[in-house]
This record gives sequence, C-alpha cells and structure tokens, in this order.
Amino acid sequence: MRLIFRLFLLALLALAAVLLANTLRLPNHQLGAVPAAPAVALAPDSALAHLAGALRIGTVSRTNYAETDSLPFDQLAAYLRRTFPLVHQRLKRQTVNHYGLLYEWAGTDPALKPLLLLAHQDVVPVLPGTEAQWTRPPFAGQQAGGYLYGRGALDDKLNLVGQLEAVEALLRAGYQPRRTVLLAFGHDEETQGRRGAAALAALIQLTHPQLEMVLDEGGLVKSDGVAGLAQPVALVGVSEKGYLSLELSATGPGGHSSMPPALTSVGRVAAAVARLEAQPFPARLDGGVSGLLAYLAPAVPFGKRLVFANQWLFGGLIKNSLAATPSGNAALRTTTAPTIMRGGDKDNVLPDRAVATVNFRLLPGDSVGAVVCRVREIISDPQIQVQTLGEGRDASPVSGTDNAAFQTLQRTIRSVFPAALVAPYVVVGATDARAYAHLCPQATYRFTPVLMDQAAIESLHGTNERLRPAAYQQLIRFYAALIRNAG
Ligand SMILES: [Zn+2]
Repeated sequence: MRLIFRLFLLALLALAAVLLANTLRLPNHQLGAVPAAPAVALAPDSALAHLAGALRIGTVSRTNYAETDSLPFDQLAAYLRRTFPLVHQRLKRQTVNHYGLLYEWAGTDPALKPLLLLAHQDVVPVLPGTEAQWTRPPFAGQQAGGYLYGRGALDDKLNLVGQLEAVEALLRAGYQPRRTVLLAFGHDEETQGRRGAAALAALIQLTHPQLEMVLDEGGLVKSDGVAGLAQPVALVGVSEKGYLSLELSATGPGGHSSMPPALTSVGRVAAAVARLEAQPFPARLDGGVSGLLAYLAPAVPFGKRLVFANQWLFGGLIKNSLAATPSGNAALRTTTAPTIMRGGDKDNVLPDRAVATVNFRLLPGDSVGAVVCRVREIISDPQIQVQTLGEGRDASPVSGTDNAAFQTLQRTIRSVFPAALVAPYVVVGATDARAYAHLCPQATYRFTPVLMDQAAIESLHGTNERLRPAAYQQLIRFYAALIRNAG
C-alpha cells in the first residue's frame, strides 16, 4: 500500500516538474522595446478632412452587381486625384474593370520583392430604417463627441485614404523606397471581390509574381478583452477561414395536410438540420488558437501561462472555455450555421419539396470535400439531397510568423503601439487578401493598425461606424513606418 502511495506521489511530482518545465521553457515571441516610429509631417487636421471627404462619397456595392451605382466610384477616383497630387504625379496608376485601382511606387532595387498594401473602395449599405439612429448621418463625414462618423470609417476607407496619405507625406519629404510598394484598391470586396481583387491580383502577377508581404484589413489593436489582459493586443490575421454553403433538400408527395405521411419533407429537412447542429465539427487548437496562445502566454498570469504551455494536458479545458462564446467557438472549429429554410406556402397544403441552406466557415486544415463528406455522414439520410451552392473554398494558406516579413510587421506595430502585444490569429470573416495569397502564401497578413475597443468594433457594418481622430493619426504613422521599414 505504501509502495503504491509512493509511486503515486512520484508520478504527481514528475507531472508537476513537466508542467513547470514546459511553462518556464515557453519562448517569448514578443519584441523588447522598439524605437518609436517617426511622426508624419501633416498639415493640422488635413488628414482627417481628407478621410471625411472620402466618407461623403457613398461607394456602396450591392450584392447584385448590376444594382451598384457606379457614379460614386468615379467620384472617389477623381477625389483621390485631387487630394493626393504627388501620388498621382509620381506613382504609376492602372485600373482593372474600370474601377479597381493599382498604384506602383517603383523602388530603387528591383531585386527586392514588392510590398503590397490592400484596401477596398466599397462599403456596405446602411440598413434601411436605421439612418435616424446614427449620431451623425452615415455619408456626411461629420465629427461628434470625439469621433468621426461614417460608413467606411472602419471598413475600409481609413486604410485606403490612410495609405495614400502616408505615401503622399513620404513623397513630400523626398523619401524614395528601395523596395517597390504596390497599393491595390478593389471596388467590390463586400460582394466577393471578383471584379476588383481577383482582377488586380491577375494584373500584379504579370509583373510581380512574387511579393515580400501582403497587408490587408483584418484584426486590429484591441484595447480590451483579449484573454483577460489589461494591455492592448494587436491581432494579426495569418489566415482566413474557408467558406461553403450547402443546400439540403427533400422531396415527398405533396397533398392535403389532413392526411400527412409519418415523415414530411419539411420534417425530414428539419431533422437533418437538427442533426448537423447537434454534432458540430470537432474543436481544434491547431487551426490557429495555439499560435495565438503561444504569443500571449508570456503576458498572462502564471496559472494561465501554465495552462497555455501545457495544451497536451489542458487542451480540453481551453476548448471548453473558448467554446462558451460564439466568437471563441468560431476560432476553434469549422462552424455550422443554418441560414435559410423554405417549405410550403399554405398552411393546409403539404409542400412537395423542402429546402434548407447551411453555411460553413472552414478552419485551416478542413477541406471542402471533407466537410461535404462529414455532412452526408451526420445526416445519414439517403433521401436528403446535398448540393453545393456556388463555389466553396478552403481556408487560405496560413502565413508564417518566423519570417523577415512578420518581424518587420511586428516591429512596426510596436513602434506605433509600444504597449501592445502582437499575436497571430485566424480571421473568421472574408477579406480581399485571399485573392492575392498565391502571390505571397508565406506572408499575407490581415491587420488594420488602429487601437479600438469592443464597442467601436461592433459598429463595423452596423450603426454609428466611427473612428477616433487620434487612432487615424496612428494609422498613417504606421503605414509610413512600414514602408520605411520594409523599403
Ligand atoms: Zn472590409
């Protein structure tokens, strides 16, 4: 008995030693102090006025492209010419599908692969009926209470106008990059990016088949709520989830509802959807969460660090805690979201066909084919037809964090946001960046250099989209520093 007790004690001590050793051995991926990025010389308030002017141009893209009003896109192009004269004198400018814009600032060393900065010109519409809820009208570019309001203030005109502002300022200061800088601005990001990003990527590929770094919108410097940390965290998207919509349908004899069969087509489809929701895709830490935790670990309290460092033992604990919120859950697995159900249209008539649409967002590592297979398996009903809607796509390639491009990015972030931790993560939504990823699979990042809290983040695509002027100044400083650091 005493021997068993001793063995148990010994095993416990060994376990404690392993946990501790793993925790102490944990590498620190954060940089030390970095010299502050130089200020960008701008006339007072001029940069904010330039952005406000762009917010007044309602470049709304519609899901049905034929319904998109093209006039504002012409107005925006003319506005950019007027507002950034040096950019338009000195950079080569090309267009694709009339509205997509590509600027090229040739570097002095053609042996260096270019840096590509992305942004998009279009914005989502304002939900009809919500206009009156805006503190300032969505297309007026007005300030109130320390914010600049407007559709596009966060998504994505701040990046577009901010990048041009930084280049204009560098040109004014006589700066000449060694590395070529490309700026590509699509005009239909909110509606799939086929005319903009895809065409721009094809044009770039002709002259620059390989890029040093691609930077698009994505994560930002979140001031609150990441892993309970008090300090801000710069979330850099190293991949974006894939996308797949499946249509599940069942057909059966229609007829009068007074004599229904035991299982109607509506019931069959509903049961299939219920089975899919009851059996979510497996939670995985290796789809992006592990990398995030590794970067945050040095900053969290010791107990949490021990958990982060020993995912082989505490993986289940981490998964359970993340799965408790929709955003945590989305980081953890390929998600299953039933979005549309259709059946009959009369209360006393059985429909002959019922249909459900289910949308999946694929974690890196899960392929479209594997998801379709698993869906069929879970439904396990040969009378349910499963059909792919449109083209599904896998998650984008996962870019590295151990290359020179990421280090440049990380250093630049720290030079503008000295208090921020930098951490890689997987973007849950979609960006234009995926269209360019094949030109730079190792270093395509998704990051908007602004400091923001959760409340402001939620205004993106919603009501009262807004930006702090000080955050915009930092964004311009970031882009100027990035071009210098990369060039
Ligand atoms: Zn966007």
